[in-house]
Amino acid sequence: MKIARIRAYRVALPLAGGRWNMFGGNSIDTLDSTIVLVETDTGLIGVGEACPLGNFYGPAYAAGVRAGIAELGPHLIGADPRETAKVEALMDTALKGHPYVKSALDIACWDILGQEARTPLSTLLGGRFGDSVALYRAISQDTPEVMAKRVKALHEEGITRFQLKVGGDPDEDIARIRLAAKILRPGDILDADANTGWLMHQAARVVRAVRDIDVYIEQPCLSYEENLSIRRRTDHPFVMDECIDSLSMLLRLHEDGAADVVNIKLGRVGGLTKARRMRDLCVHLGIPMIIEDTWGSDVATATIAHFAHSTPEALRFGVSDFNSYVTAVTADGAPRRQGAGIAATNAPGLGIRPRMDALGKPVVEIA
Ligand code: MG
Repeated sequence: MKIARIRAYRVALPLAGGRWNMFGGNSIDTLDSTIVLVETDTGLIGVGEACPLGNFYGPAYAAGVRAGIAELGPHLIGADPRETAKVEALMDTALKGHPYVKSALDIACWDILGQEARTPLSTLLGGRFGDSVALYRAISQDTPEVMAKRVKALHEEGITRFQLKVGGDPDEDIARIRLAAKILRPGDILDADANTGWLMHQAARVVRAVRDIDVYIEQPCLSYEENLSIRRRTDHPFVMDECIDSLSMLLRLHEDGAADVVNIKLGRVGGLTKARRMRDLCVHLGIPMIIEDTWGSDVATATIAHFAHSTPEALRFGVSDFNSYVTAVTADGAPRRQGAGIAATNAPGLGIRPRMDALGKPVVEIA
């Protein structure tokens, strides 16, 4: 089997809740996603998605996905998409870095492998643990009162894991955490995610001011060293996210005892092939994971669901269902949130069919 054609589509994803606010005054109301179709000489078509969170979030941008696919595509024509490690090596040789570009292509290859094997990806990735995967819900940065109201509303929908977007003014962030914590009941999980937004002195103030509250602190500062410093001066459970972009960083984190939980985002690490390697190491080391991507729609959500469902339950700290955060529908058959959980489909591969009417005309085409 050979890759015969690659097409990429640009898809706008308006946010269901309007504007999304996070660290440093950054906000976004429509995400710019890229969906890639990898077609084989046997007629099978695999699908993948890469959706950076604006240009401000990480070293990734939407137009870069398309430029990268145009660059990498010719190297992949003729390759066997079922040989995912060989495809990974081919991409890493042809283009240094740019894991978010490679992620979409890698996922599409895994989808083809699953379709050819007539087996769902969750099975290929290790098997399904449990009936469904517990979701967490992120809450856009707003006044403490508005965020607490949102926590309350989600609580009534059955959500028990909440991630507050902080990383703004430290005094307001302290109020955000305090007010939200009042709503929660025993067993709920509260996570204050600064997304790199605090300087060290601000992070130090916040963690000290909420010391009496049962809250996880997620990626307070930008660099690994700053986060490690804050980690060493707080007794809150600690999550690292933006710093963890490779297996090497995961090894370093473990060596330093730098976090209790890590966030694995498919786009940031380069797709399922690399994410699975990191996941399996986390399983071995007993490190719980938040499993997700930077953002996306039905394609990303289906991928996350398979990956998360094949991860042991005790090590699934949280999972995102991005298709419930956006209004665009990009594929049929994608899993959808049921209460506070989501389940991977049982159909072969990703188990979804891209909606060609939603994708429009390809913006990159390589044959
Ligand atoms: Mg995070």
